[in-house]
Amino acid sequence: MLNFNISFASRWNYISIAATVLITLTAIGGILIGAYAIRVFSDVRTTWQHYDTVSEQKVAYLTNIHVYLGYSGMAQHLKDYLLHGDEHILTWIDIDLDQAKNSIDSYRLLDIGDDETKALNDLRALVLKTRAQVLEIPKLRAQGLTPAQIDKRIDLNPTVAISALNQLHWAWRQQAEESKQVMELTSQNGSTIVRLGWIFLPIMAGIAVIVFWLVSRLCRLVAAYEEEKKALELSEGKFRDMAANVPGVVFQWYEHPNGERGYLYVSPRCQELYGVSPEELKRNWRALTLHPEDEKRYLSTIDDAFRECSDWSFEGRFLTPDGTEKWGRCLSKPAPVNENEIIFNGLIIDISMQKKMEEDLRILATTDALTGTNNRRNFLHMAETEVARASRYETALSILMVDLDHFKRVNDTYGHAGGDEVLRQFVEIAKSHLRGTDILGRIGGEEFAILLPETASSGAFILAERIRHDLEQTKMLWGTQTLHVTASLGVADLNKSDATILDLMARADRALYAAKNSGRNCVMQDHGEQEHFARSTSKPEPGENLILTKPGAHGAN
Ligand code: GH3
Ligand code: MG
Ligand code: MG
Repeated sequence: MLNFNISFASRWNYISIAATVLITLTAIGGILIGAYAIRVFSDVRTTWQHYDTVSEQKVAYLTNIHVYLGYSGMAQHLKDYLLHGDEHILTWIDIDLDQAKNSIDSYRLLDIGDDETKALNDLRALVLKTRAQVLEIPKLRAQGLTPAQIDKRIDLNPTVAISALNQLHWAWRQQAEESKQVMELTSQNGSTIVRLGWIFLPIMAGIAVIVFWLVSRLCRLVAAYEEEKKALELSEGKFRDMAANVPGVVFQWYEHPNGERGYLYVSPRCQELYGVSPEELKRNWRALTLHPEDEKRYLSTIDDAFRECSDWSFEGRFLTPDGTEKWGRCLSKPAPVNENEIIFNGLIIDISMQKKMEEDLRILATTDALTGTNNRRNFLHMAETEVARASRYETALSILMVDLDHFKRVNDTYGHAGGDEVLRQFVEIAKSHLRGTDILGRIGGEEFAILLPETASSGAFILAERIRHDLEQTKMLWGTQTLHVTASLGVADLNKSDATILDLMARADRALYAAKNSGRNCVMQDHGEQEHFARSTSKPEPGENLILTKPGAHGAN
């Protein structure tokens, strides 16, 4: 997922950079072409306007010069004067020459070349010279010269004027030609640009369409990606909520044949249940420690599940960092990644409460609530196992059957609670004489059985006598009173005729019955088929609050 993000982001970056560059280049190209076209067309306009104005003015001035100097002006007026001799015509001639000079001067102010300057200078000099000569005419007349004589004296030199005017015409035509060429060239450039524009504009439009398409596609992609991301975030959020709230630790476990293994994911509840943070557990899978007795089984079940690519299930005790024991049930299913690697998706459920309830139930089912020792059912169950073992390995096994003497009287004298206390104290006394392997059980109201594995009848008899004697010697306190209880005991050891524990117990019971019959507070030992019992001796201590057992008068075996 992370890789997808990175590659998507970088692809998006590259494409957007490329699109931006393309758009920028297209825009710059368009602006340059536009600017160039504007410049070219404005050049054409300026050139045209300049040419138009200047040539128009030049034509006007040339026409004026022609008119004022030619036969519509000065030349005609001079001819008239010479023919008619009218003095005021001279004023007309002067005005014509002045106008011609003004036109020449105005022409000189325009943008003109060297040829034109020279021609205009010649013309101007000619006009000034002619004017001076014309001003001499009245004097010549006064001297009595005839118009024909005066005409000869005035040297207008039309060759200079014609040549200068021709020069001006030629220069003007030259300029017109040059302007025409410039115009043609600029208009050619203009049309080239227009042609280029026709080629460039479709390319620009094409690029713009492609860029638009790319950008819109990218926008769609980004929108889809955003939606997908949102949906993913939503589902991831749901998953995290679920993983955080299930009553256990959700995990993902990774196994590789090269021995690499560990947690890929651990839900936050791990901290609360086992005192280890998910981060720590992901770094080091051994941070979740097992009870030393369960660790080997834990590892071997993992190995088996990996080898067989099968469900992994395990039930055992985990230890929190402060040493607290927590029962956990691990359940997971394999999800092979490839031929070798497997990921297990699973759950560790805290079953400490269930285990405690099971233990409580087990205790309830197997223990006598009053004395805390085994109840009849559990005693028989355990004893059966021991009988089977002793029969198989032919080892010794004995049993003691104990019945408290005249217990009804205890109840009658001290109440039921007093009787209960006696029962509890008897169990304590009996236990103080037993080994760890011996099994004590309450099999009736005030009847107990003690199974002694690896013990022959002689040892059992000695033990029975010790218990009897200890009980006889014990002064039990009940409130302010002291009470004294005795018991009768029957002893039997396992022999080949005993098929079950009940057979052995039946023989011990017969010995106990014999003990009762022989005065109580004594031990009788069964000797098998002959119904022969051996008996211990006892002399009860009399006392005020004692429940007296009938002293035995039989001799010791
Ligand atoms: P014996 O010497 O012949 O054994 O006389 P006994 O009175 O002890 O025998 P019996 O079987 O007549 O009476 C047993 C009495 O034990 C009867 C019963 O009320 C009492 N008992 C049985 N279970 C309990 C118990 O859990 N608590 C108390 N306090 N008394 C019990
Ligand atoms: Mg009894
Ligand atoms: Mg009794």
